[in-house]
Amino acid sequence: MKTLQRPEVHTPLPGPKAKEVLARDERVLSTSYVRPYPFVPEAGEGVWIRDVDGNVFLDLMAGIAVNTTGYAHPRVVEAVREQAARFSHVCFSDFSSEPQVSLAERLDRLAGGGFRVYFGNSGTEGVEAAVKVVRYHTRRPYILAFTGAFHGRTLGSLALTSSNSKYRKGFAPLLPGVVHVPYPHPYRPPFGAKPEDAGQVVLDYIAHLFKTKLPPDEVGAIFFEPIQGEGGYVVPPQGFLPALQELARRHGILLVADEVQTGSGRTGRFLASAYEGLDPDIVILAKGLASGYPISAVLFKEELSSWPPGAHGSTFGGNPVAAAAATATLDLLEEGLMQNAYEVGAFLREELAKLQDDFPRLGDVRGRGLMIGLDFVKDPGTREEDPELRDRVAEAAFAKGLLTLPAGPSTLRLSPPLVLSRAEAALAVELLGEVLRELA
Ligand code: PLP
Repeated sequence: MKTLQRPEVHTPLPGPKAKEVLARDERVLSTSYVRPYPFVPEAGEGVWIRDVDGNVFLDLMAGIAVNTTGYAHPRVVEAVREQAARFSHVCFSDFSSEPQVSLAERLDRLAGGGFRVYFGNSGTEGVEAAVKVVRYHTRRPYILAFTGAFHGRTLGSLALTSSNSKYRKGFAPLLPGVVHVPYPHPYRPPFGAKPEDAGQVVLDYIAHLFKTKLPPDEVGAIFFEPIQGEGGYVVPPQGFLPALQELARRHGILLVADEVQTGSGRTGRFLASAYEGLDPDIVILAKGLASGYPISAVLFKEELSSWPPGAHGSTFGGNPVAAAAATATLDLLEEGLMQNAYEVGAFLREELAKLQDDFPRLGDVRGRGLMIGLDFVKDPGTREEDPELRDRVAEAAFAKGLLTLPAGPSTLRLSPPLVLSRAEAALAVELLGEVLRELA
């Protein structure tokens, strides 16, 4: 496929072939699948993806922050081909092999050292494994998490998820012992606080809980996202996470960074936790780690590795083909993609913020690297969320050949492949600007 300069939409959306696939999909697939707009891919290259009708889209969502190196990166394709031609499975829970061992060594180094690694297949599996490490090691019954958090949808991780009650409705009872506190959203601070106090009121609230109902020495861990993803791409105020870490240390509580969405270079650093010099006890990676191949990695400090053989495992976890794709992805990240995410991300945020002058209902532009949220409001004064406007922007962007995704109540998330160039970012801003002008 030739490298294209601009999106090309030349059929009504969905086009006839997409329509046909979607009609069959509707008859046979689980009704739990969401289809935010009728996009049916066929093949892609870099940040460009063609649908089954030949329409070409500029991808600003990367399959929910997964396609780190873009579509069909030749180095990832080659790594997959080579490993698939050797062996694609022997069950890593039972037998060791080199691709996974070298990936674990690499992840340990990238995360700062001193970790052991457990491999799974998905983010939620990573979270489940982390919960089990915490339980087994601390034997403490409680876990602290944040409202607005998304940690997955299996029954254990679902108990930690609280970004939208629709994820939980109908599935109770969940894992007991999970206590939620508000996330310090600087744009919409909890407890009616001023933006500059958003972090402190949450810390005060945790201290209040510890005094009144939650014995801190019975809390095993605090699970947090360094930037809330599904909750709306919310960056906590500077200093909040270090203070949270200090509080956790004081009570012997483990700090678990869910970097499933923020990790693997998306924010311009390998871990978003690095922005505030955090030293989490456990780090969970998945999503973008292998550019679309299913793998998750739980990194936990050496001293937490007290469980015996068989205490946890998985048939497919640590699949060697996915591990090879992850290693190729990490090579590319270290050779420049992480830096690109940092630089193009900063440029993109700056340019997007300029759109606020003509379109004040784009209330907030936030994020780090190529993890950027656009928060739409009914009125910039009240900052009241406007989910309908956000959805209209996503639909209009799709019609223009831009793929985006909603996150949280009123945020449009941009999480493009990290190969996005400055010129492609400028084009994305130009097209989003057109969408906003048309909607104004
Ligand atoms: N944790 C975070 C922060 C996520 O964003 C997600 C998915 O969106 C998950 C966990 C769950 O990952 P998966 O969908 O691979 O199970």
